[in-house]
Amino acid sequence: MTTTATRYEVVIGLEVHVELATETKMFCGCRTEFGGEPNIRTCPVCLGMPGSLPVPNGEAVTSAIRLGLALGCAITPRSQFHRKNYFYPDMPKNYQISQYDVPICENGRLEVPTAEGAAEIGVTRVHMEEDTGKSMHVGESGRIRGASHSLVDFNRAGIPLLEVVSEPDVRSAEQARAYLAELRGIVLALGISDAKLEEGSMRCDANVSLRPMGTEAYGTRVEVKNMNSLRSLYRAVGYEIDRQTVLLDAGEEVVQETRHWDEAAGATSTLRAKEEAFDYRYFPDPDLVPIAPDAAWIEELRAGLPELPAEIRARLTSTYGLGAEQAVTLVDAGLGPLLDEAVGAGAPPSEAGKWLANEVLAWCRDEGVEPADVPLTGEQLSELIDLVDHGALSTKLAREVLPGVLGGEGSPAEVAKARGLEQVSDEGELGQMVDDAIAAQPEAAAKIRAGNDKAIGALVGAVMKASRGQANPQRVNELLRERLGI
Ligand code: ADP
Ligand code: MG
Ligand code: ZN
Repeated sequence: MTTTATRYEVVIGLEVHVELATETKMFCGCRTEFGGEPNIRTCPVCLGMPGSLPVPNGEAVTSAIRLGLALGCAITPRSQFHRKNYFYPDMPKNYQISQYDVPICENGRLEVPTAEGAAEIGVTRVHMEEDTGKSMHVGESGRIRGASHSLVDFNRAGIPLLEVVSEPDVRSAEQARAYLAELRGIVLALGISDAKLEEGSMRCDANVSLRPMGTEAYGTRVEVKNMNSLRSLYRAVGYEIDRQTVLLDAGEEVVQETRHWDEAAGATSTLRAKEEAFDYRYFPDPDLVPIAPDAAWIEELRAGLPELPAEIRARLTSTYGLGAEQAVTLVDAGLGPLLDEAVGAGAPPSEAGKWLANEVLAWCRDEGVEPADVPLTGEQLSELIDLVDHGALSTKLAREVLPGVLGGEGSPAEVAKARGLEQVSDEGELGQMVDDAIAAQPEAAAKIRAGNDKAIGALVGAVMKASRGQANPQRVNELLRERLGI
């Protein structure tokens, strides 16, 4: 990878769309569910029939204010809806209802944890708008170029969206990733969206530019779209930084444009020239009154905010004594509540944290399960840790028990029993195995008797092997020492 470290400073601003999990659409009563036949959840309003009138969704307004408060924004006393005019076949009104110069929330900030320390990113605004329909380009590529024809589905048209626009304060691909992860965590904590990057209920566009190190003026920016995971945002931004570095080094200019990230190719390509605000002929929507939330209601919403990711992380490190990195991992994965539950059931926080951050997350990755939905209770995790503590299971055996528990085979003790994984600590059984090992390796036994303590490892290993890993290694060690008189 090309390095920009000394020559250029990276300047990134992120625009994130969050699809709200309200029951109905932004300006009509159509349901917002996902899937089903095309065009069944539509009405005159979201199909843009002349004469139909929009009515704002109160739940969406509430969600916008709550997110704004969580991001430390000021809530605008009277915000307005504007029409953003452009033509696209999936937008039947030929304008999108959005907010323009008076958004509902402004001037917030988000502190994001990264490996190089915390970064504070300004949040310019949070505004409400409606989603468009969905075009399907029929053809090999799935993109409009080369398609034989296109189909349009308006089920998604009019679903409420919040757009969160950051200041150009992001300075690296890593910070961009961390910002999106943090924002996603906040949205999930508020419960206002399922925020699935892979499925598009949360989408992030990245504006990327470079400027010579030490200069003030911003360079020309490129807007990159179509990233559908945190990793893909990280890769796309990294690619774009490298591409612009090469251009600038060669004395060429960066063209202001919108580029499309191709995940498989690992590259961006030109999508279209960047449009300017004046292209949209914004004007206030005469069908909609201003949104004027009263101060008492805003304070009520503020008081009702849940514990946010930064607060949870602070609690995990200070109260539970977990490491900062592990706290980030657990909170990003939405495993905070499960950790609390396990600790509540008696598990030592450090052990529970370790199990969740390592084994449980690995299992979720392998099985494609959203960590927050992992089928594990705090009680079960606590029991598993307890079995290890009491020597009924070695850590290694416990790792084999866990998938059984996650697979719904029962409690840790039941799974260990059913799968025959219980650690053997029984004196009689272990004693027999120890005697066999000594008999099988008389030379090793002689060495140990002669004072070569290290040789004991070979015999412990033999017993562990004979027991298929189920012997309690500590007891084996003790029994060998007893038998060999050392
Ligand atoms: P637009 O109206 O084209 O969407 P905005 O002014 O709303 O433009 O900015 C969109 C995003 O681009 C914001 O997140 C902002 O921080 C970011 N941005 C603006 N200028 C630059 C720049 N030179 N480099 C990187 N990001 C930028
Ligand atoms: Mg914009
Ligand atoms: Zn409708």
